[in-house]
Amino acid sequence: MSDRYCVIGNPIAHSKSPEIHVAFARQTGQDLAYERCLAPIDGFADTVRGLIEQGYRGANVTVPFKLEAFALATRLRERARVAGAVNTLVFEDGEIVGDNTDGPGLVADIVQNAGVPLAGKRVLLLGAGGAARGVILPILQHGPASIVMANRTRATADALAAQFAGHAAHAGQVAACGFEDIGGQVGSQVEGAFDVVINATSASLSNALPPVPAAAFREGALAFDMMYGKALSPFMEFAAQHGAIARDGLGMLVEQAAEAFALWRGVRPATGDVLATLRSRL
Ligand code: NDP
Repeated sequence: MSDRYCVIGNPIAHSKSPEIHVAFARQTGQDLAYERCLAPIDGFADTVRGLIEQGYRGANVTVPFKLEAFALATRLRERARVAGAVNTLVFEDGEIVGDNTDGPGLVADIVQNAGVPLAGKRVLLLGAGGAARGVILPILQHGPASIVMANRTRATADALAAQFAGHAAHAGQVAACGFEDIGGQVGSQVEGAFDVVINATSASLSNALPPVPAAAFREGALAFDMMYGKALSPFMEFAAQHGAIARDGLGMLVEQAAEAFALWRGVRPATGDVLATLRSRL
């Protein structure tokens, strides 16, 4: 019987993960099955235990269960521990191993696919939720000049900055602000325009624009929205109107999946064709 994996979420019908992993398996000659798994909102842990009993080898975890997956894991990879969220589970040796591949997926899409190095760049991260938490450490590992986190609820951004200050290579590499401070505060990390602006808020889900000022985008900046869809998000449209190059989160989705696949199977799939196929089907 094929090794079994799935993606757990609620809702889950929209998930593209089965399509991606089946394509990876075909490409790499791996014998596996991958399905969608709808877990009851109050039944994530029971669902995972059921999967383990049925012999599943691992699972991806999506909204709204990434924090519960973090709590349920009996062992955590460093990047999941630091992120405080888990999107990939490995069931091995009686353990539930938790990892977070969202951040490496984002960084791979920016650095490899888009060809935009992060080293020495000024990065602005909008949002301080689960997705934002997962990308901070992988971004820091690429040596940006600074990463500024802006959030609607300022206190959450402050807490994140304090948490990640210990991972910074130098004082001031990590800073936080409210949306109203972006570009201002002369002499601080927040002053001026940014090379890379990442929308990790969920505003695009409701077709809303996070209140980022046009001055945040340096001419030719990369404006990355974690959201993806057929149409440009309001953030991508706004950024493009103000001189930035907009990119959506579809490449991040495929890259985080590739990282999970490599973790499970020990072989790294190529992502280019899979991304192009998904894009053509949006
Ligand atoms: P969370 O619910 O954990 O966090 C939401 C964040 O968005 C919070 O910081 C919240 O601020 C902020 N926010 C919500 N609405 C607005 C608004 N109208 N204006 C400004 N800020 C707002 O969500 P996640 O972090 O899990 O997900 C964020 C986005 O990333 C989603 O669109 C999700 O689909 C996408 N994503 C994409 C992935 C990919 O592979 N492409 C992977 C993971 C996520 P506050 O703290 O004030 O509430």
